[in-house]
Amino acid sequence: MRKSVYPRFLVVYGAIILISLFIVSTLGRTLTENRLIAQDARILYTAGREMASGQAALDFSDRTDIPAIYEALCTLSTAERIDIRILSPSGYIIIDTTAPLRTDDYDRIEGFDYAAFGPGQYEIGSFFSQYDSDRLNVMVPITHSMKTIGYISLHRDLADITSRADSQLRLMFLIVGIVLALMGLMLMVLQTTVFSPLEKIKTGAREIRAGHLDHRISIPNEDEIGQVADALNTLAEEIRKTGEYQSTFISNVSHDFRSPLTSIKGFTEAMLDGTIPPEKHDRYLQIIQNEADRLEKLTRNTLSLENLQRNPTGRSPLVYSTFDINRVIKKTAAVFEGSCRPRKITISLILMEGELMVSADKDKIQQVLYNLIDNAIKFSPDNATITLESRLRHGKCEISVADEGIGIAPENLNRIWDRFYKTDASRGIDKKGTGLGLSIVREIIKAHDQTITVTSTENVGSRFVFTLALGRQTPD
Ligand code: ADP
Repeated sequence: MRKSVYPRFLVVYGAIILISLFIVSTLGRTLTENRLIAQDARILYTAGREMASGQAALDFSDRTDIPAIYEALCTLSTAERIDIRILSPSGYIIIDTTAPLRTDDYDRIEGFDYAAFGPGQYEIGSFFSQYDSDRLNVMVPITHSMKTIGYISLHRDLADITSRADSQLRLMFLIVGIVLALMGLMLMVLQTTVFSPLEKIKTGAREIRAGHLDHRISIPNEDEIGQVADALNTLAEEIRKTGEYQSTFISNVSHDFRSPLTSIKGFTEAMLDGTIPPEKHDRYLQIIQNEADRLEKLTRNTLSLENLQRNPTGRSPLVYSTFDINRVIKKTAAVFEGSCRPRKITISLILMEGELMVSADKDKIQQVLYNLIDNAIKFSPDNATITLESRLRHGKCEISVADEGIGIAPENLNRIWDRFYKTDASRGIDKKGTGLGLSIVREIIKAHDQTITVTSTENVGSRFVFTLALGRQTPD
């Protein structure tokens, strides 16, 4: 199973908290303490050096003013919170700020050995067992006339240093705490702006995949995530529309195929079982042929519409060439001469003078003209005139097919482009119509990135106008 990203972030965040606390409390503590010890050792050593080379050292060498030295060292000891001792070279404690001043009978430090003192200028320890707990001890020799006449030792309680390290550590903890809190805040922001919307998208995509095409992912963000949600919503809507469209399409197709098939089957059976006597066969065979023609036309139209709309390769289904549209109009009009003559219908051509070169798919445009002229003839009364015009307008070629026919009611004007749509008024006139002709026309014009419009008045006539891109002035 795929894991979500957010819990992983939480685990990493938790690990970061534990690791940082561990680092601060172990490594941080040791580093801080070591740094403070080294720093204090330096300060004490410098202080010791100054004492060893000052007037006090001279006085000490003469043993002139021991009480005054004692007083001065006691003051310093209290102020700096250190113990100070002055020792003879053999380890007798001459002055000790932790004890009253003595003038004789000095204590000797058992095992005192300057050479055994830490290799650096300081050491941590009990200073030759003078203390029960660890101290930071610094010892500086007092020299006079090139001779060591004693030592000054300075001692600071380690607990003092530890408590200073603790307060510095508290500060470090506070900083780490603030950084972690900010990281937590960032995680919360990420949760609301990224992870939670992503979760919604995931659930939404699952719903859509499960076929719940009415499900909508609601993410108000305008950012990339919001755009992904919008794209998914649009996709779901498209899938829903396509599904709906396919089911109406199939029901329309089956309906339109069923009625001619039913009559073909009915008449054939009636002829075979003798219900229709042989002398009437010719008439019914004619009907059967008409119905078969209708079926053929229906199949052809449906396929051509499907080819236009369904274009899985993504390539344009059109084969462009540059040709003279006036010639194509004339040629297509000529095809209808046979059907116009018996009804005394006139096709009038008002074409732009000379050649009018356009860039388009010639066969498809021929089909557009054919369907429009065919409709114009079908829905015109006898003796009517159909006008085909070509002209230049706004840098494009404009072609119109106008008739003086039954016209289209305003409420039907938008629907005539729908597949299988036929107005009630037209049903009586055109029994063979499939209602696909104008859908094909619109798809072809759309594929050319051009427009087609219709204006119509009932019982006056209709006018279909479509545009084409101009081509180079050379015939194909
Ligand atoms: P068909 O192939 O059945 O003619 P179309 O898609 O070409 O179908 O036309 C759809 C409907 O639009 C027709 O049934 C008719 O009702 C209406 N129509 C199309 N052209 C005209 C026209 N020139 N005059 C009046 N009605 C028209």
